[in-house]
Amino acid sequence: MVQRVETDNQGGAARAPGSDPPSSARPARSNDSEGRADLHSHTTHSDGALTPQELVQKARDAGLTALAITDHDNVGALDEAMEWGKSLGVEVIPGVELSVSLGEKDVHILAYFFDHKNQTLLEYLTFFRQERLKRAERIVEKLNKMNIPLTMEAVREQAGVGSVGRPHIANALLDEGLIESYHEAFERYIGMGGPAFEKKYQVNPIEAFRMITGAGGLSFLAHPGKYTTDMELSQLIKAGLDGIEVVHPSHDEKLQEHYRGVVNQYFLLESGGSDFHGGKKNDDHVFGLYTVPMHAVETMRSRLFS
Ligand code: AMP
Ligand code: FE
Ligand code: FE
Ligand code: ZN
Repeated sequence: MVQRVETDNQGGAARAPGSDPPSSARPARSNDSEGRADLHSHTTHSDGALTPQELVQKARDAGLTALAITDHDNVGALDEAMEWGKSLGVEVIPGVELSVSLGEKDVHILAYFFDHKNQTLLEYLTFFRQERLKRAERIVEKLNKMNIPLTMEAVREQAGVGSVGRPHIANALLDEGLIESYHEAFERYIGMGGPAFEKKYQVNPIEAFRMITGAGGLSFLAHPGKYTTDMELSQLIKAGLDGIEVVHPSHDEKLQEHYRGVVNQYFLLESGGSDFHGGKKNDDHVFGLYTVPMHAVETMRSRLFS
């Protein structure tokens, strides 16, 4: 059987599950005395498989000093994760992953260090989650028209308390026996441009950056990969982007060096993480390997509080 290669909707450089990470990927348990941080991860509050408690425990087991939880459009994991972080000795950094529109493209923005009780932010996130639900309904309708008998109940069951996303639809299709693999869902139906694809509601970058700054946070472009052109990146920088996610499983060493160069050229901040989801995404091999040193976290903090 041909081994499937994992890509996401950004179409970043792909890597076969289980193959070796680039040599610049550093294990959390390396000899740096300062420790390392994974600044991109998902829980059951979006499309991740682990609860906040389980994820913080996993971070501790991997030897991480800090972990940012960055659920899609949801900060519901943060209180519980921070509490467990305190008792397990892992710093939990508040995070969230938003989708913004750049022309026809869906670009992901990671926000860190904001006040996760900020009322305006919470209202935005509630609105985005409602829009996600409506979009899932539109996808299910399209599938039904194609004689695929998926119900919204099955999708809601997969999502639980989490913001609904296409991974839940893929899991529901799989559990209902309507497809044979998780990836088939994206390849045949719900991947970008597929017959049951539907866009998410998207804010423009300026509005998203304003909301993040208003809540006291920093904004990073997530996994730019090879399909975010440098022209688009420069548009985001002009709109107020604070940094770039340089380290990510979809970036090989060359791409990391490229984005590190952009970070230095524009006096931006560097972020990095595993984008770990767990469960059927089958990405256990990335956890603990895609990290940044703690001084990168301290540089972020000093930019915020200086
Ligand atoms: P959503 O936020 O609902 O658009 O879902 C986006 C998520 O779906 C991404 O974070 C990936 O985890 C997953 N995804 C998107 N495209 C693919 C694909 N082609 N194959 C596998 N997973 C995908
Ligand atoms: Fe996701
Ligand atoms: Fe993303
Ligand atoms: Zn993510």
